[in-house]
Amino acid sequence: MATKAEREHLSKVAEIGCIVCLNENHGQSPAEIHHVRTGKGMGQRATNYEVIPLCPLHHRSGGYGVAFHAGSKVWQERYGSEESLLNQVKEMLQ
Ligand SMILES: [Zn+2]
Ligand SMILES: [Zn+2]
Repeated sequence: MATKAEREHLSKVAEIGCIVCLNENHGQSPAEIHHVRTGKGMGQRATNYEVIPLCPLHHRSGGYGVAFHAGSKVWQERYGSEESLLNQVKEMLQ
């Protein structure tokens, strides 16, 4: 379960809109939360602060090369690493 502070953080992140759509100049798209797993063991869930906002297309339903979960390597080559996007999100919330 997320704490109150975590839930507030998650809603602030979601309010940014999809970070990829913003960077690609597609404007603000309603986003869902993607948990970044950098620095963690395989398959381990990141904390609720290591999250980036992605629209459903860029997150899971856009297909290979567009959706993160359809192929994370090619996705990060195209849109930037999870880590750099996470840093961008953190800067935007400051
Ligand atoms: Zn998007
Ligand atoms: Zn995800």
